[in-house]
Amino acid sequence: MGKFNRRNFLKVVGLGTAAQAMPKMMFAGEVPKDKPKSKVTSEKKCTNISFQRSIPVRHEVDVFIAGGGPSGVAAAVAAARQGAKVFLAEGQSYFGGMGTAGLVPSFSKFSDGINFLAGGVGWQVYERCRDTGVFGPDYNPNRKYRWDSNSFRAEGLKRVYDNLVVESGAAFTFQTRLVAVEVEDGYVRYAICHAKSGLFAVKAHIYIDCTGDGDLAAWAGAKFEKGDEQGNVQAGTLCSIWSGVDWKRARSAGQYGKWPLGQSANLEQAIEDGVFTVKDPHLPGMWMCGRTFGGGNIGHAFGVDGTNERSITASLLRERKKLLEYERYYKEYNPGFENIELAATGALLGIRETRRITGDYVMTVDDYKRRASFPDEIGRYNNEVDIHSSSADPKEQEKVKRIFATLRYKEGESYGIPYRALIPRGLANVLVAGRCISTDRYVQGSIRVMPGCFITGQAAGAAAAVAAAKQTSTRGVDVKRLQQRLKDMGAFLPNA
Ligand SMILES: Cc1cc2nc3c(=O)[nH]c(=O)nc-3n(C[C@H](O)[C@H](O)[C@H](O)COP(=O)(O)OP(=O)(O)OC[C@H]3O[C@@H](n4cnc5c(N)ncnc54)[C@H](O)[C@@H]3O)c2cc1C
Repeated sequence: MGKFNRRNFLKVVGLGTAAQAMPKMMFAGEVPKDKPKSKVTSEKKCTNISFQRSIPVRHEVDVFIAGGGPSGVAAAVAAARQGAKVFLAEGQSYFGGMGTAGLVPSFSKFSDGINFLAGGVGWQVYERCRDTGVFGPDYNPNRKYRWDSNSFRAEGLKRVYDNLVVESGAAFTFQTRLVAVEVEDGYVRYAICHAKSGLFAVKAHIYIDCTGDGDLAAWAGAKFEKGDEQGNVQAGTLCSIWSGVDWKRARSAGQYGKWPLGQSANLEQAIEDGVFTVKDPHLPGMWMCGRTFGGGNIGHAFGVDGTNERSITASLLRERKKLLEYERYYKEYNPGFENIELAATGALLGIRETRRITGDYVMTVDDYKRRASFPDEIGRYNNEVDIHSSSADPKEQEKVKRIFATLRYKEGESYGIPYRALIPRGLANVLVAGRCISTDRYVQGSIRVMPGCFITGQAAGAAAAVAAAKQTSTRGVDVKRLQQRLKDMGAFLPNA
């Protein structure tokens, strides 16, 4: 950890000025869909203030990472294992992001059915979940696709991530949020964080944005796209844990015997019977995360802007209420769920889509269709394009259903991910990883899932370590050297 003395105090001059400018950058042309009316969230016409503080530079490191979800964990572990000095700031009380704080109940594909695509840190997460009983009771080591679509216990996954990061030697603190960045000529000079002890700064050679939303890169001035041409984003979901599920009965009723165990019965009937205030025909369902409890990926939060706390607040209030309708639906329409109780909802609203940071290369649906390969490939992935509709409108629901059914691969197929998709245009020492890398909506609909985030996080961490060791920028990284390091770590790079 960086020494804390008089000299390494940073005078944050005009943090307020930056704060004034930031919302313009963040929200240019964006009108939050949820205009909350409650007192808690009411919006007044703002006046601006100038904000100035002298704050300690608490860490001087090679690599700073904002966010400790799947991509942040992989980045921290990869960078630290390459000998880099790392500091990671995570806003929640544990690692895992959407998979823990958001209670997302299952991992998507780690493999293409033949090759383990998320090799390296992704493999270690898989292996440790398997060996420490973190996967749900329906995990079957003899199943052909045993690597893919496994449900898990979020509490166990937290410990898997804790151990991986601690063993790597990366420094980190929880309940620590990145709140601003200081930028000069395309270089981020300091990350400003806020935690229980107050504000502090981190100085690093490379800054990796693993916030899921591209906060760091966007605040540093990177361009981004968000949603479709009209700015509509995929619906979010407030995921949940339900106790008292009788899985045996559910299985024998025929609805849950089939794999995967996410489907839900008699939904159309329940919609017709008026159980729901929003007629949403798409219900991912309930996963067998424990012997008696289920992980619910239930209900859609339409119109939520995950980069706007007012929109998030309104959506959380609404979704918590809507889950009572789903409780009735499960109890009355689904055998085996008669006695369920809602045990918990996510600390984070599940957000599927916000910013896609514009990088040196933007991956497109054509790359997906042609199973692209790139000279600067840092990994390959293959998930189907899973875009959740931004509204309950039947036409849009049909469209995304068609995409989901057609944009998918056969066994052994995958697309390459170029290093350039991790480098935000116009910034010299910033990398992005995870859900917000440089893609169009289609590729984001595939790569956003957790195993995809392990791949890009690991690559960003390794690249940052190489750049720091050579004292060069992100574009100065010798790609061949990076690919060799990634291969040594276990990455799947058949073309490198
Ligand atoms: C409802 C839902 C269902 C899903 N289903 C699946 C599935 O079945 N299988 C699958 O594999 N994936 C699934 N996903 C996708 C997957 O969970 C996420 O896309 C993935 O976790 C993204 O990883 P990430 O590291 O980019 O970001 P996140 O997981 O979002 O993690 C970001 C982390 O950064 C932290 N953070 C954010 N901003 C700051 C800040 N300013 N300062 C400090 N920390 C910050 C957050 O607290 C969080 O821990 C689902 C997602 C949702 C929402």
